[in-house]
Amino acid sequence: TPPPQTKTTFGPLADADRIFTNLYGRHDWRLKAAMKRGDWYKTKEILAKGDKWIVNEIKTSGLRGRGGAGFPSGLKWSFMHKPPDGRPKFLVVNADEGEPGTCKDREIIRHDPHKLIEGCLIAGRAMGANTGFIYLRGEFYNEACNLQYAIIEAYKAGYLGKNACGSGYDFDLYVQRGAGAYICGEETSLIESLEGKAGKPRNKPPFPADIGVFGCPSTVTNVETVAVSPTICRRGGNWFASFGRTRNSGTKLFNISGHVCNPCTVEEEMSMPTRELIERHAGGVIGGWDNLLAIIPGGSSTPCITKEHASSAIHDYDGLMAVRSSMGTGALIVMNKDTDIIKAIARLSAFYKHESCGQCTPCREGLHWVHMIMQRFVTGQAQIEEIDMLFELTKQIEGHTICALADGAAWPPQGLIRNFRPVIEERIRKRAAEDQAKAEALQAE
Ligand code: NAD
Ligand code: SF4
Repeated sequence: TPPPQTKTTFGPLADADRIFTNLYGRHDWRLKAAMKRGDWYKTKEILAKGDKWIVNEIKTSGLRGRGGAGFPSGLKWSFMHKPPDGRPKFLVVNADEGEPGTCKDREIIRHDPHKLIEGCLIAGRAMGANTGFIYLRGEFYNEACNLQYAIIEAYKAGYLGKNACGSGYDFDLYVQRGAGAYICGEETSLIESLEGKAGKPRNKPPFPADIGVFGCPSTVTNVETVAVSPTICRRGGNWFASFGRTRNSGTKLFNISGHVCNPCTVEEEMSMPTRELIERHAGGVIGGWDNLLAIIPGGSSTPCITKEHASSAIHDYDGLMAVRSSMGTGALIVMNKDTDIIKAIARLSAFYKHESCGQCTPCREGLHWVHMIMQRFVTGQAQIEEIDMLFELTKQIEGHTICALADGAAWPPQGLIRNFRPVIEERIRKRAAEDQAKAEALQAE
């Protein structure tokens, strides 16, 4: 349990408190330079402290899964903390970063692969896993080459393999590239793909911690979550917990894209106001804050929020829940008043429909219908009653499927309807009036 927080202002993060300093202009990602920045420092001592100590530091830090779900990491890492039953345990790093708007893990692998590799060793030790797989998004070709190079460097230095870092602990690490399917970022689908099968999600339970890769206990965890763990162990769980608010602690990578003056990836303290995050790091909204229309605050699966919400929102798990959205991956997509908000959300619906694996009827059929209705909203060729119908349809999809893809597809239209219903209604009325005028003109001819 992280200590109670009494802070009221958050960030900007001091340079000395940034974990991913290599993002800011120092681009040598190889071993020698990484070590100068503090990676692989006293890793042997960390490993020697044992699995319980590492898990306890992660629990103290309050770290929550950075892949989007925000599940408490220390708790998740302790799930495989059971007496051995003869089966090997596996660490699986989810690097299949496919969420539109999100590219934070790609940046870590590009600029700081050794933070991830060292994190794999420490996380593996915490879970009692002697083997780790990094499942990497297929499109990340250059990143795959660099990551493999860095892994070879770590093996040559004795940091991986038998007696890793001279700790007496054996740990092997493999990179597996995906083939471009968004659904393979869902953890059970990823496991299927890793096993050489089509990437179709499995029902949970059983959770991967009980039955994962090749039927063995496995923990699937996000790149950023793993990559911050060596620094947490070196500087202490309490240090990490001192940033942000209770239940929302730590530092976090944010991708800020869309209609901002300076799209960027930045590490910042959790719980900074959304507006400050955008204005301080991304140069503000193009045309000024008053020109803001909406923000998707945490990757494409999170419902959009309005300018009024964004003006008061705190950018963390609780803060975004307060405006009926969520933190997701921490990727902000900023849209100014030049945006056709209906078209933008309809584009996401097309994406999810295309990426559905087709196993569950509500997802396979429902997302087709969501897409069709959204297209009708774009052109205005719909009935006003279809707005409620679409909302009800997304409610029927949500929570009734095997995996979270369908939920992630249901939330963006819900956010649109909640926050921009008048825009949809206006377009439908305008189109109806135009069609009526055309019909009358034809009749007059
Ligand atoms: P989830 O809440 O189902 O699970 C979170 C994690 O906790 C999983 O690893 C799960 O195995 C574990 N877990 C939960 N309850 C457990 C229990 N009782 N016992 C053991 N383990 C348990 O969420 P999810 O499906 O993993 O992720 C959904 C999120 O992923 C979405 O909200 C979205 O934001 C995000 N997402 C991210 C990307 C990306 O590119 N990073 C892509 C798509 C979606
Ligand atoms: Fe496949 Fe969609 Fe069902 Fe997930 S919710 S298993 S993507 S059909």
